[in-house]
Amino acid sequence: MNEKTISIDVQKDLFGANEEAASKNAEIFQKHGIVSIDIMGSVGTGKTQLIESLCERLSDKYPILMIAGDLATRIDADRVGAHDVDTVQINTGTACHLDARMIHVALKDTDLSKYKVVFIENVGNLICPAGYSLGVNKKVVVVSVTEGPYMVRKHPLTIKRSDMVVINKIDLAEVLEFDVDALVDDVREVDAKLPVFRVSSKTGQGLDALIAHLGL
Ligand code: MG
Ligand code: ZN
Repeated sequence: MNEKTISIDVQKDLFGANEEAASKNAEIFQKHGIVSIDIMGSVGTGKTQLIESLCERLSDKYPILMIAGDLATRIDADRVGAHDVDTVQINTGTACHLDARMIHVALKDTDLSKYKVVFIENVGNLICPAGYSLGVNKKVVVVSVTEGPYMVRKHPLTIKRSDMVVINKIDLAEVLEFDVDALVDDVREVDAKLPVFRVSSKTGQGLDALIAHLGL
């Protein structure tokens, strides 16, 4: 299995050329016929577990590359790598988001003809990752029932800039007396047409619908 780690000097990679790099990335993905998906969400929403569950279901069908953004570790890349998936870890040092140039470095360094699906796990936070285009096909926001009821209302811009919302850990909603319908209403308030998926990465609930919507 392929396991790479790349460290990024943030100061050199700030802002400026992000959009340009994003369109280059989009071109690269398109050239190789790759479906690319950026998964955003706070620490602890279950982004990694969601990717693991998707890889469990899809890795027989498609060769998958997972690119993991994390400040310092490769914990998430290693978890996903255990599902027979190649991984590239991007250690961002102090940057609390991935940007298009970091992804470009990872792509340039990888034989992409091998892959049909690329999952990108963004750095765990719900604020700035949405501000940086990466050149992907789909941006997915993950919120979960363990984060309290206000995650959507407090991050309207992130919701607005995403292509779909996953409400994760739905299996815990009842025991936590979490009002999932109210959270869905909050999403509707920001964007009435945004697809929302109620998912448990643990039990598998809702994953088939999500996979179908991703066209996989
Ligand atoms: Mg993670
Ligand atoms: Zn950031």
